[in-house]
Amino acid sequence: MPRFRSKTAAICMNLCVLTLLLATHSHAQANETPQISHTPQQLSVTGYTLPADKLAKAKALYKVRTTLYLFGMLFDIAVLWILLRLRIAPAFRDLAERAATNSFLQTVIFVPLLILLLSIISLPLDIYRHKVSLTYGLSVQGWRSWFADWCKAEAVELVLLIPAVFALFWIIRRSPQLWWFYFWLLALPFLIFLVFVAPVVIDPLFNKFEPLQKTDLQLVAAIEKVTQRGGLNMPPDRMFEMKASEKVTTYNAYVTGIGATKRVVVWDNTIRDMTIPEILFVFGHEMGHYVLDHIYKGLAFSAILMLAGLWLGRRIALAFVARWGKHWQIRGITDLAALLVLMLTLSLLTLVGEPVGNAFSRDLEHEADRYGLEVTHGIFPDNGAVAASSFQKLGEKAYDYPTPNRVLVFWSYDHPPTADRVRFALAYHPWNTPKGPKYVK
Ligand SMILES: [Zn+2]
Repeated sequence: MPRFRSKTAAICMNLCVLTLLLATHSHAQANETPQISHTPQQLSVTGYTLPADKLAKAKALYKVRTTLYLFGMLFDIAVLWILLRLRIAPAFRDLAERAATNSFLQTVIFVPLLILLLSIISLPLDIYRHKVSLTYGLSVQGWRSWFADWCKAEAVELVLLIPAVFALFWIIRRSPQLWWFYFWLLALPFLIFLVFVAPVVIDPLFNKFEPLQKTDLQLVAAIEKVTQRGGLNMPPDRMFEMKASEKVTTYNAYVTGIGATKRVVVWDNTIRDMTIPEILFVFGHEMGHYVLDHIYKGLAFSAILMLAGLWLGRRIALAFVARWGKHWQIRGITDLAALLVLMLTLSLLTLVGEPVGNAFSRDLEHEADRYGLEVTHGIFPDNGAVAASSFQKLGEKAYDYPTPNRVLVFWSYDHPPTADRVRFALAYHPWNTPKGPKYVK
């Protein structure tokens, strides 16, 4: 089959050309953010607003991002549809079947061909996204480092996908009716394991982490006041600082892992540019995720969505194969080439499932904000103003647009808009009411 042989050759060619292109064009970008010489100051905030120059930038960025978001969504679906019409997956399948009789080896050949092709097709869009981040000063990551991350992400994806796809088709072939349920059962422990190992195996591939005890003992001591107030016995070795400043200029902190790997991670930028009370509020928010078991809740929610998605996905994929299978040269749902049909189905379902997942996420984030306010109450004066100041800094640094479209927020925001968070922080005073605070009495 010379047609696909030249196709695979083209992929390899593209990869090599791209590597060269990126390597030669990547100037040795200074991977360092300017050190601020002043001590961070708290801002006086009455609502989330931006000065005129930053607002103009934020608006432009908001427009670019919204366009990219909408375009990206349609692009992914269009690419899958076009590849199906071009019968690319059957060509890769034939190649895999000719090269190996063993179904695992066939998967080992088929999956990387398909995934790399898809990734290369969307690479220009990824490059453009990074270009935007660089232009707006959100990122300081040079192209060489960025492309190394891209390659690592591809490798991680393949390492995870090859056994997953093999298991999926092994189950589909054995239980054409109930595979959606059996695959779900198998995927659950795998998902939990992934959450467990991600902070120690995957995350260090992309960023450097240091125990906070090593980098900032004073901060650890301040944080202990907050954990004690929340009645949480969190060992300091579960607090980490991430060297984010090597790649980005924005602020962040997050909770990750499960069981023995559960931890709070604060980006070094956040620690550098925020006052101790502001960091404590940010930490309090993350502690909220930790104490309120948001990782477990998120896992349970994902499991439910996944079950519904697999059940529905099977029906949609079967309908696609029945309608266009012949034309696409896909023999049936048990055919390895049907992976592309399943991916198209998944993309369509994600489109619909996204607002559901985001609404859930926004709710958890709001509760974490509430917890952060409650757990820092009394530790330093006027913690609402402190929280508002930290949100202002976060938003300003990321050129967060103050008045996003409400439909867009509903559909695509996984956090409440910054303006809403500031408003809530300034207005939340449950301590003098009969009901009292919700989480930290
Ligand atoms: Zn959060």
